[in-house]
Amino acid sequence: NLAPLGLKYEDVYDPREMAIFNFHGQWFTDSKLLDDYLHFRCVDHDAYIAGMNEEVEAYMANPMIAAMMPNAEQMRAKNAQIGHKEGGFHWMFENNKEDYIKAFFGSRERQAQIKSFEEGYKLYRPSEKETYLDHGYDESKPTSELDINDMEGAAKFRGGECLSESMKKGDLFTPLKWRCAFGHEFKATPNLILNGGHWCPECNRYEWNYGEIAKVNPFFAQVWTPINGNTCDYKIKKKVSEFDILKEIKDNL
Ligand SMILES: [Zn+2]
Repeated sequence: NLAPLGLKYEDVYDPREMAIFNFHGQWFTDSKLLDDYLHFRCVDHDAYIAGMNEEVEAYMANPMIAAMMPNAEQMRAKNAQIGHKEGGFHWMFENNKEDYIKAFFGSRERQAQIKSFEEGYKLYRPSEKETYLDHGYDESKPTSELDINDMEGAAKFRGGECLSESMKKGDLFTPLKWRCAFGHEFKATPNLILNGGHWCPECNRYEWNYGEIAKVNPFFAQVWTPINGNTCDYKIKKKVSEFDILKEIKDNL
């Protein structure tokens, strides 16, 4: 929100540099339940923005502070500087980082088709229609009734199998053994798989290879393919694996 600084989004940002495939920007249809625990909706959106504007306007009324604030040109220069850092827009195009370009823009051609604001790019608000996922088991069934057959079905829907042969009916918190489509074997509780949306911790341990996963995991394909299509072939090595960090923490506890 740049309004209290006397600026518009269009003054500072260029849509041609904005990733088409962003990995953020989602909300959860059951966030109301989380609010019941955490009460983070203490102020509604409009009141929050109005309060923030009021605060910044009060600062800007002070000429000393106003003089320290960056203008549009300085902000654009800062964006360019950030974009030249590893992983940034300029960095990937200037260094021919084709996997990054595919991951964030689909292709060079698709990036080249994005219009600038001067050429008529229009900001838009994405659809707010909820989409529900199939989680690969009968969600109308009471938790206490879930058994090993439900686990096998859920595993199959993720392109893998449940290696455990039995479980206590309704016990979602005792870990079971699973195998993913790539042959990795791992342990996880039914709760983590069914309710947490997690699956194999090995598939993504060292690289992003979501396109490959979507081809063999129908559960994941539900969220991946409608946006990214089914021809993604990029792989991007992680510099640091969060799974290794987690393991290190666990090993040291
Ligand atoms: Zn795996």
